[in-house]
Amino acid sequence: MSAATQLRCHECGRTASRDDWETATDPKLGDMTQCPGCGSTNVQSDR
Ligand SMILES: [Zn+2]
Repeated sequence: MSAATQLRCHECGRTASRDDWETATDPKLGDMTQCPGCGSTNVQSDR
């Protein structure tokens, strides 16, 4: 039972495993997960 964590983009609804996202570095917030489809950083884990 080791299901990979799925993440979901709240902008376009894309879901993918943790490794399948871009990383954007924000000068204030640090590393953020970024959707490669729409460029949004509004990406959260989907449990
Ligand atoms: Zn997206």
